Amino acid sequence: MDQAILNVVASSAYVLGPKVKEMEQAFAEYVGVKHCIGCASGTDALLLALKAWDVKAGDAVFVPSFTFFASAEVVAIQGATPVFVDVDPETFNMDVRDLIYKIEHTVKAGQLKPKAIIAVDLFGLPADFKLISEVAKRYGLYLLEDAAQGFGGRIGDRKAGTFGDIAATSFFPAKPVGCYGDGGAVFTNNDEWAALMDSYHVHGKGSDRYDNVRIGLNSRLDSIQAAILLVKLKAFKEHELVDVNKVAERYTEKLKGVVKTPEVPQGFYSSWAQYTIQVANKEVRSKLQEALKAEDIPTAIYYPIPMHRQTAFSYLDPKTNQCPVTDRLADTVLSLPIHPYLSEEDQDLICRTIHSQL
Ligand SMILES: *Cc1c(COP(=O)(O)O)cnc(C)c1O
Repeated sequence: MDQAILNVVASSAYVLGPKVKEMEQAFAEYVGVKHCIGCASGTDALLLALKAWDVKAGDAVFVPSFTFFASAEVVAIQGATPVFVDVDPETFNMDVRDLIYKIEHTVKAGQLKPKAIIAVDLFGLPADFKLISEVAKRYGLYLLEDAAQGFGGRIGDRKAGTFGDIAATSFFPAKPVGCYGDGGAVFTNNDEWAALMDSYHVHGKGSDRYDNVRIGLNSRLDSIQAAILLVKLKAFKEHELVDVNKVAERYTEKLKGVVKTPEVPQGFYSSWAQYTIQVANKEVRSKLQEALKAEDIPTAIYYPIPMHRQTAFSYLDPKTNQCPVTDRLADTVLSLPIHPYLSEEDQDLICRTIHSQL
């Protein structure tokens, strides 16, 4: 890692450059898509996809309410309207029945034009793309996979990053493959959208670098991050993804029946960005979190405030954005420490502390 960083420093190519090209090729090959374009963050990656599809004011984009803010924020940045969809309490991912209900409702209301679905691979588990892509086809909607937490996940032999028309990922340090700062990437097999996103991510560049043909962003990936990502991808492929799955399996073995453990449906494989349990209610969760904290065990609540209850989205109609499962999850979820290097001793202490409280 140190050598990879020093090589970039010595090369004096700091932004884009050959390291970024090399990283894009390696990541496209790993995921199994034609195009990968590195960019400055996962948020920008989502935004680039919406720009390529010209998502704009008057468009409705269907987004789960149980997710990180950025999944919905990008819709509003484009001037379009997010419509919030509830999630499945077993997988935490988009509930396809509620998706259909919300699309039908939007069509009937006649105010907005349904344009795209953003399905999130929450906590590392791919969304139910077999059903979601059928729905996207049936209603003529673009499908964007928010794989910010999903990199490395699979359904059968297909990897996260291949399930949407375009997929976006994040290399924020806490994600399954993180760099040493902010970074992200888009993936697609579509040449036209790849060319558009390539342009949008560097100020809407044309074929001449100083002839800008559209309004874009400064969303370049730094060479140092690309070099770090190449080292990280190697470890991820060689052992990290397998190791983090072993940690998750061990949690489930030890905690099943004590708390509600996360479900991975048949044929699915998670990259475990988070290991998220559910308890009876908010009071039980606070007590448990306190007890873990007393043992120096960090936990986190992803996510305490659903998208349809965010202050920034208070302008939206609450009636059309109801998500009761998400409301319940916001009060009952707790994410435990997970990473490929978690020792069995530490994990045993975490599980013992949980057992002693429940
Ligand atoms: C982290 C995250 C993002 C945003 O990625 P950044 O790199 O932090 O901009 C988007 N969607 C989801 C689901 C995320 O977890």
